[in-house]
Amino acid sequence: MSAMTDTLPGSGTFARGVHPPERKGLSGPKAIEVLPTPKQVAIPLLQHTGAPCEPAVKPRDAVALGQVIGTSQAFISAPVHASVAGVAQMGSVATLPNGRHVKTVPIKAEGEQLEGEALLADVFGGDWPTQGLHTHEPKAIAQAVRDAGIVGLGGAAFPTSVKFARNEAKPVDVLLVNGCECEPYLTADYRLMMEYPAPIVTGALLAAHAAGAKRVVIAIEDNKRDAAEKVRAAAGGTHVEVAVLHTKYPMGGERQTILAALKREVPTGGLPLDVGVVVINVGTAAAVARAVLRGKPLTHRVVSVTGAGVREPKNLLVPVGVSYGELIDFCGGLTDDAARIVAGGPMMGFTLADLSTPVTKGTSGVTVLTRDDVRRAEQTNCVRCGRCVDVCPLRLVPTKMAMAAKFRDWELAKRYHLQACCECGCCGYACPASIPLVQLIRLGKAQIPKE
Ligand code: SF4
Ligand code: SF4
Repeated sequence: MSAMTDTLPGSGTFARGVHPPERKGLSGPKAIEVLPTPKQVAIPLLQHTGAPCEPAVKPRDAVALGQVIGTSQAFISAPVHASVAGVAQMGSVATLPNGRHVKTVPIKAEGEQLEGEALLADVFGGDWPTQGLHTHEPKAIAQAVRDAGIVGLGGAAFPTSVKFARNEAKPVDVLLVNGCECEPYLTADYRLMMEYPAPIVTGALLAAHAAGAKRVVIAIEDNKRDAAEKVRAAAGGTHVEVAVLHTKYPMGGERQTILAALKREVPTGGLPLDVGVVVINVGTAAAVARAVLRGKPLTHRVVSVTGAGVREPKNLLVPVGVSYGELIDFCGGLTDDAARIVAGGPMMGFTLADLSTPVTKGTSGVTVLTRDDVRRAEQTNCVRCGRCVDVCPLRLVPTKMAMAAKFRDWELAKRYHLQACCECGCCGYACPASIPLVQLIRLGKAQIPKE
């Protein structure tokens, strides 16, 4: 039987962290809607951690929905697929929100498209079995996940099939499915759990089998108890456990989720694998189920379009490669006091400079902040209050790392474990001097010489 508990067997929380205003009420009550097929998409050939893909189609080639349009032979990579039916255009370059320049394959939509209710039913609908899944060979599951181009949909976009590769020195005993969605504003995972919990449970069971994990735990924050109930009901008759954790930012960071749900501490600079855990996001789990049982690639994802700066916040099922601007237009456009558009949520997201930027597999939301939201005090000198240290969930020393990055003192940066920072933004949020700590640290991480 599935189990649900608030203290399973971790403490349900972690030390430090912050409690920013949640603001999930803007898009949280809105059921997932399907974005009408755009006239054109631009699909990045690198939208994952690892090697970029090479184009597998030429300009003017006709492409079908789900057809492979980019591949790579590298182990850490993921193919990309057409998210609309149409005709491939001349390749172009897009700048992603993190500043990375990537090649894209633009596709002009032509002919009959799968859209509306039919698309929703195709992606999430129908029966999702929870029994007899052991007949799928672990290697076959990993291959189907690779072929489908599945990457972590929580934002990190690490190729999921790589997480299923067995490592005899580090056996896995727990598959942890992350449904915390701790970023303020974002509600894409919440809606998925509310409306389509069945493919999440099926995908979690398949992923656990692929990774060799006996236990399956789905972790959800206690500000989403209704979603936890839906998932628990869908997991009835299985050994899937639902752990309800305290609401605290950044609970969704995999180290914090593992600590809170399982009481295991990932070492600094280590990986969940070091403590026998593989972590995937709830959306990733649903994509695994669809890939393995239906042979369907990852072409669409749920995105929250939210914030007080957008007229009608929504949760949308969108094709990969559509522009952020089209999502905002479909939600009624910007309000008069819209001041900043963020790809993702306000804590970890990146400010968008160009609304033609394409949505990728890792895009969980777009948050439009108003003038009131972004009003900040002037930056002053560090007052040595220690608040940034007090809130860092990884027990780092943000002020030292930021200074090391600012003055390019890479020895100091290494001594303070700059690379271990998960860029959660808690330090900057807590700083009374408005020092852009996480921006400095991010810059340092990008510039520090690689060994
Ligand atoms: S130093 Fe990094 S991990 Fe620590 S609070 Fe700041 S952003 Fe988060
Ligand atoms: S929180 Fe800001 S002011 Fe306080 S010690 Fe850290 S950097 Fe300095």
